[in-house]
Amino acid sequence: MINISKTMRILGKKYPRSTTTLNTMRGKASAFEILISCLLSLRARDEVTDVVSRDLFKVANTPETIVKLPMAQLKKIIFRSGHFNKKAAALKEVSSDLIDKFDSEVPKTYDELIGIKHVGPKTANIVLAFAYGQLVLPIDIHCHRIPNRMGWIETKTPEETGKALMEILPKIYWKEFNSAFVQFGRETCLPVSPWCSECLVAKYCERVGVLKHR
Ligand code: SF4
Repeated sequence: MINISKTMRILGKKYPRSTTTLNTMRGKASAFEILISCLLSLRARDEVTDVVSRDLFKVANTPETIVKLPMAQLKKIIFRSGHFNKKAAALKEVSSDLIDKFDSEVPKTYDELIGIKHVGPKTANIVLAFAYGQLVLPIDIHCHRIPNRMGWIETKTPEETGKALMEILPKIYWKEFNSAFVQFGRETCLPVSPWCSECLVAKYCERVGVLKHR
């Protein structure tokens, strides 16, 4: 039977906030570095994002220095994160936008952030949560898939999921939700063939749409 609070308490204990790359940047990196790492993390593994971000920030960690960095050098540094042509162009455009429209600062509101080309809802919420400590729900593919499987919600897109979760997830769990569900989704509730036999919250899950599991 569904029990959101019990599920959150179990997963929150198992996956304390800390291990994802973006989570480890909380309080240590600038808002700009968190924004750039988030853009680099799209379709990339965490370990790769971590290394590539560190390499990039050694040579450029402000909008001005990213804009000045020769394109060929930028592509070479971020090559390993995949889709490097698109990502390099995005990094340049986002940096230029910040210089031109926000006096080189990363804005602190959702509407301003998603008004920047290449910044979507997930990235905006990660910046607000991890850089500015705001109480928001960053939703990635794991955070979208798992609550749907558990039967908490019935949504088609991460955007819909964010809105639906804001209605049903008690606010005390918002800060840990992203980290816990990302790690849980990578280790146990995998996209294909999840490890239901080893799942700590199996008795609170309705397994909606799970056709094959281990
Ligand atoms: S029981 Fe299976 S589908 Fe449900 S949360 Fe656990 S791993 Fe995911």
